[in-house]
Amino acid sequence: MSIVISVPRETRAGEQRVALVPDMVKKLSALGVSVKIQSGAGEAAGYADSDYESASATIETDETTLYQHADIVLTVNPAPASQINQLKDGSILMGFVNPYSDTDRFKTLQAKTISAFSMEMVPRISRAQAMDALSSQASIAGYKAVLIASTLSGKFFPMLTTAAGTVRPSKVLIIGAGVAGLQAIATARRLGAIVEGYDVRAAVKEQVESLGAKFVDIDIKAEGAGGYARELTDEEKQQQQAILARHVAAADVVITTAAIPGRPSPRIITKTMVEGMKGGSVIVDLAAEGGGNCELTVADEMVMHNRVKIYGPLNVPGTVANHASELYARNLFNLLSLIIKEGAINIDLEDQIIKDSLITHAGEIVNASVRDRIQNASA
Ligand code: NAD
Repeated sequence: MSIVISVPRETRAGEQRVALVPDMVKKLSALGVSVKIQSGAGEAAGYADSDYESASATIETDETTLYQHADIVLTVNPAPASQINQLKDGSILMGFVNPYSDTDRFKTLQAKTISAFSMEMVPRISRAQAMDALSSQASIAGYKAVLIASTLSGKFFPMLTTAAGTVRPSKVLIIGAGVAGLQAIATARRLGAIVEGYDVRAAVKEQVESLGAKFVDIDIKAEGAGGYARELTDEEKQQQQAILARHVAAADVVITTAAIPGRPSPRIITKTMVEGMKGGSVIVDLAAEGGGNCELTVADEMVMHNRVKIYGPLNVPGTVANHASELYARNLFNLLSLIIKEGAINIDLEDQIIKDSLITHAGEIVNASVRDRIQNASA
């Protein structure tokens, strides 16, 4: 009996991505895996059921068969309880699982002896780069944020010389120069804007400059664990805001991408800073999902304050669904390749990538931080 992998239609409202694309189905078939796709799962990303059938997948219309016959279920968004309840006991669930919230799901996964892999927890080490879905999706979000901002802005990004005179290029400030921020800098540069980048990790200065942007140096060094930023002290926050306010005021477009894993997004742009901006300026806040980097951000809404537009879009990668699905499916395939060996599933708990990304396994919550959170919640 070959391994069966099932891919359900995503249930999150507005989601257009799908966990597997036909090309990856072909690669899995070559490994001897049978793939079942829920009918219509790829539709919004541009893939018809027939595209999957041509890649040798089976199209499944019956949900019970989809889940109960699956050794491995692949999702993009965290599986809701309704999906988890249908999974076969002892099977594998792989996808974004949002390890920082709604811990009850993990108790159900534990009780059903499911091995749940979190794409968020894949370690940021060289060997795991091809499995790094946070990066593949963040890069897409950074690119799209610039396009959203350029659509909302009433100004050109490039300098234009016309018969009616010369128009100055837009000034774009990118706050947070991680994967999304660096892609936003590159995209804004390609559109001809004058770009500044800012981050609390001093190590990114060179990367910002190599993309043709100016680094805003505030002399705060907040490197934290695992290459991420740490939270700033109150004194550091004040120092940051005092200097950043001038750069925000000079910008036509501000794109914020600052995040701290497992914590609410840091508040970087205050209402007063927005009030110092020129009329017609635009803020696109990619951190809206975690509460926003701007004090005035309302998730998924456009706020107008003193003629400044502040927009906090949600699920930006989902709006570039075809390429986002393609890259995500490759990330999944590469992680699957670690656990599928010679037609059998073999979960090697000594492998760091597996150890870090597994949340539940063999009836245990094996991820220490999720286990602590569950214990603290019930204490
Ligand atoms: P992220 O999404 O967690 O945060 C985005 C950026 O916001 C980060 O650069 C962070 O430093 C910055 N930030 C946080 N608080 C801030 C504040 N108060 N003010 C300004 N900026 C603030 O980051 P990410 O894109 O996931 O990247 C995190 C780290 O992981 C980076 O060091 C990145 O280079 C590294 N990384 C490594 C690999 C790898 O080696 N395989 C892959 C991807 C990313």
